[in-house]
Amino acid sequence: MIIDLSNMTELAWDKMDGLLPAIVQDAVTGKVLMQGYMNTDALSTTLESGKVTFFSRSKQRLWQKGETSGNTLDLVEAGCDCDHDALLILANPNGPTCHTGAESCWFTSNTSDFTFLADLERTLAARKSADPESSYTARLYAKGIKRIAQKVGEEGVETALAATVHDKEELKNEAADLLYHLTVLLQASDMSMSDAIAVLRARQQ
Ligand code: AMP
Ligand code: ZN
Ligand code: ZN
Ligand code: ZN
Repeated sequence: MIIDLSNMTELAWDKMDGLLPAIVQDAVTGKVLMQGYMNTDALSTTLESGKVTFFSRSKQRLWQKGETSGNTLDLVEAGCDCDHDALLILANPNGPTCHTGAESCWFTSNTSDFTFLADLERTLAARKSADPESSYTARLYAKGIKRIAQKVGEEGVETALAATVHDKEELKNEAADLLYHLTVLLQASDMSMSDAIAVLRARQQ
């Protein structure tokens, strides 16, 4: 269930003595970032302000994540589990979420292949403002959209050819080249994989 201000009362507040665990997940990469607790006040504040806000058990007050560090979490969606006693908060982080300076409070590399792809896209997006001397991707952006589009065309043909001759080793490598250049092409067009994924999602409904 997606939680909004109108259905908050359906959550199992009584069973949980007013405090639900809230897991925060990066809305783009799916990475688990942190866990805190929310009472009704924290959740309604989160929904109203769009900034993820917990009830701090140590401070015994509302705590907007990032209130001192600036590393806030922008709410994308709040949901609950099957029996309504735990929250899953999708958010876009502004800076590292862990107070140690790490991106996530779980240092273990809980990264799936798709999380890796989303991380790679972020890295490639950051290369738009990098020095072309320092990076192949930055040089590619500097060459302009036509050159990048041409590369996508080339890698697409190479991928197709490798599949046609049943060369799996080659197909693997060419598909990787294609994914990389397609990501750069989308970024150069001020778009992201999310835009294409949204189209695929809509087709599945
Ligand atoms: P912040 O909310 O980022 O301004 O941090 C304020 C304080 O909250 C920090 O000094 C920590 O004590 C605590 N804190 C910050 N981030 C986390 C986190 N991800 N998990 C637990 N405690 C945190
Ligand atoms: Zn549950
Ligand atoms: Zn932490
Ligand atoms: Zn290639």
